[in-house]
Amino acid sequence: MGHAGILTVCPVCGGSDLYYEVGGYTGKLYHCKECQYIGPLVVEADEQMARAIREEHEGGTATDG
Ligand SMILES: [Zn+2]
Repeated sequence: MGHAGILTVCPVCGGSDLYYEVGGYTGKLYHCKECQYIGPLVVEADEQMARAIREEHEGGTATDG
């Protein structure tokens, strides 16, 4: 929030439905509601880039879930 046009998205599925997972020695972790990704890394992308990640995820091979 704040940067117009820039989204914080999941690196796995490109979803923007992220929230902080609380607790742990590592500090803050992101949790993706869409693919259940949990990790410290997210991608700052514009809508076009987020969509590209999403399409790649949806069109890719399903190996784990
Ligand atoms: Zn995700």
